[in-house]
Amino acid sequence: MTRNAFKYCPMCCTELTTRNENGVARPTCPKCGFVHYRNPSPAAGAVIFDNGRILLVRRAHEPYVGKWTIPAGFMEWTESPEETTVREILEETNLKIGLDGLFHVYSGDDDPRTRAVLILYFATCTGGSLRAGDDAAEARWFSESDLPADDEIAFESHRLALRKLRTEYPERFKT
Ligand SMILES: [Zn+2]
Repeated sequence: MTRNAFKYCPMCCTELTTRNENGVARPTCPKCGFVHYRNPSPAAGAVIFDNGRILLVRRAHEPYVGKWTIPAGFMEWTESPEETTVREILEETNLKIGLDGLFHVYSGDDDPRTRAVLILYFATCTGGSLRAGDDAAEARWFSESDLPADDEIAFESHRLALRKLRTEYPERFKT
């Protein structure tokens, strides 16, 4: 696996060597001592229901361009997951939301850019009018009966989240 793998030291440009640390191979700089701790990337998003329908967005970019997801995005360096969620939903759907608590956390290994950790909150729309933007080509509400098929949904974590919502929170899909 080579995702997020440095070949050269990002601090001093020396070719990295591999050092074994407690059974984990760590790319390490023989010159300045930099150690590359390769960690998953956290992302956050919101499960938003309105009148029995859930809000999904269609991806405007690769990977999985054209597939649907629960609105979410990667955390910026300075953000809390809650701040990421509010920002991403505004960017992708033009809706303002209030968070209602944690739904679930997923670990994902089907993003070619990185391993991801997806933090999903329940949220309620508090303002704005639905309009797709930023990484979303389209944003719309889905009732349970017209949810996209699994092969139209990007990322296993989003498929699992929708399955969990349907089986454990069926009342959310009722009008
Ligand atoms: Zn270095």
